[in-house]
Amino acid sequence: RLEMLKQTNDLPPETADGFRVRLYANAGNLEDIKKATAEGAEGIGLLRSEFLYMESDHLPTEEEQFVAYKCAAELCGGEVIIRTLDIGGDKALPYFQMETEENPFLGWRAIRILLEQRDIFRTQLLAILRASAFGKISIMYPMIISVGELEEANAVLSECKAELTRRGIAFDPDIKTGIMVETPAAVLCADDLAHYADFFSIGTNDLTQYMLAVDRGNKKTAQLYDSFHPAVIRSIRSVIEAGHRHGIPVGMCGEFAGNADAVPLLLGFGLDEFSMSPSRIPEIRYLIRASRRDEAQSFSERVCRCVSPKEVRRLLKERK
Ligand code: PEP
Ligand code: MG
Repeated sequence: RLEMLKQTNDLPPETADGFRVRLYANAGNLEDIKKATAEGAEGIGLLRSEFLYMESDHLPTEEEQFVAYKCAAELCGGEVIIRTLDIGGDKALPYFQMETEENPFLGWRAIRILLEQRDIFRTQLLAILRASAFGKISIMYPMIISVGELEEANAVLSECKAELTRRGIAFDPDIKTGIMVETPAAVLCADDLAHYADFFSIGTNDLTQYMLAVDRGNKKTAQLYDSFHPAVIRSIRSVIEAGHRHGIPVGMCGEFAGNADAVPLLLGFGLDEFSMSPSRIPEIRYLIRASRRDEAQSFSERVCRCVSPKEVRRLLKERK
């Protein structure tokens, strides 16, 4: 098995009938980017920028962030999608005051914080823009629920571009900006959001939590937390279709993208980019190359008609 995986390691991630996808890795720090490159990732589909803020005892400065993002782009060589700060929920910063909330996952987190704390947002965007002169960097906003947030975020980005132009500092003027689709609202408004985004990336970790109203970290409800639930599966299909209707690529950076059982489904739906923990790459590459898109398509349609996670799993098992 290991031998087989090794043999396909240098081959492109495409199905036997020629459907090519992008195989990317998620990174929680710069060390992960080295691992990703070693495993043959073509890019970083999710750089969780929180690490810079967590490892520091102060809000990282524009210069500190610039150095780190530039280093990320250089280490990777391919596209690096930097997600803007996603704190709140279960992630806090010791030096940043946040009130205790009764429902932190439904509270003040991610883009909601950044749109209020404009200085933190601007500092990060300036650093990302500056790094974009040194490699292919894209920006991704977390936890979007409405077009208004995206318009506002993009307006801040435009101001930052104007500021760099004034300062005479280089950046990529065509830098791509996308969103995480990880709330039911984003799924249902995907057609609207697609007008303001260059790409989507489906965050199945949070999407499963919010779609099913099941806390992703609660042991008591762990049985119910299931990305194979028809509501999640059909959401994924609908987001990919919406993205493609508007001509933008759709990726996935939640754990589901690295799940071997999900490969035929995601190929069938036409997912453009799979982003996962670096260690998952060899097996997923192997499975993609062993699949056929046409078969995956008819199979995924059948799966979408299933009425329960149990039935979904039965179909997946039968197929093996
Ligand atoms: C997700 O929610 O699926 C995701 C990739 O982001 P995180 O796990 O960092 O919330
Ligand atoms: Mg998330």
